[in-house]
Amino acid sequence: MNNIPENTEARKIGIMGGTFDPIHYGHLLAADEAHAAFGLSEVVFIPTGRPPHKANKKVTSPEDRYLMTQLATVSCPYFSVSRVEIDREGSSYTIDTLRTLKAMPEYAGTQFYFITGLDAVLDIVSWKNPEEIMAMCKFVAVSRYGYTHKRMEEIPPELREKIIPLEIPLLAISSTELRERVRRSRSIRFMVPQPVEQFIRKKSLYRDNTGE
Ligand code: ATP
Ligand code: MG
Repeated sequence: MNNIPENTEARKIGIMGGTFDPIHYGHLLAADEAHAAFGLSEVVFIPTGRPPHKANKKVTSPEDRYLMTQLATVSCPYFSVSRVEIDREGSSYTIDTLRTLKAMPEYAGTQFYFITGLDAVLDIVSWKNPEEIMAMCKFVAVSRYGYTHKRMEEIPPELREKIIPLEIPLLAISSTELRERVRRSRSIRFMVPQPVEQFIRKKSLYRDNTGE
């Protein structure tokens, strides 16, 4: 035994939640920028099972969204994908996911960084138990096209003070726009990783996309 002190700094892991219908370079860039900015050891992508805020919209099956998320992240050694939300019955609430992750032995002592785009952060008051979520993890708000960090002033101060803004290069890509492009037979080639594009084509996803 020697006297070298153990590294007592908590392990830091990013969580990137989303519907990922489909996953695109905006999601991957946000995760990668947070990974670098906060020295995260990994980022776990968590596709939602049934997104509560998209209850009356048509959403691709959880398994197909999970597979696309795997295809998009497999080449990056510090990205992984969790089934925790798609395997859970009922709506997917972030608070339940955080509680589940915190209870897992492999995450004992881990500091979680929950990564979201500014559009999602501005919605935070409508989430289930926002104060508790903020107490359980660090909350990162990345830039998103069409939003400025100044808009964080709209968030109640007791929640806002816990949110860490992170400027990232703007990629004006959204899954909504991608679904619409596929429906109109427009190219999505340089907006999603190639295996995701191939999967969408192979399974004929979004061809009859009606949005609702
Ligand atoms: P949709 O248009 O269907 O809502 P989306 O592109 O917003 O899809 P989501 O799965 O809803 O994708 O988003 C998951 C998370 O990723 C959210 O926190 C969202 O703000 C963030 N995000 C999505 N696209 C980008 C982007 N281009 N840049 C930065 N963050 C993004
Ligand atoms: Mg969205």
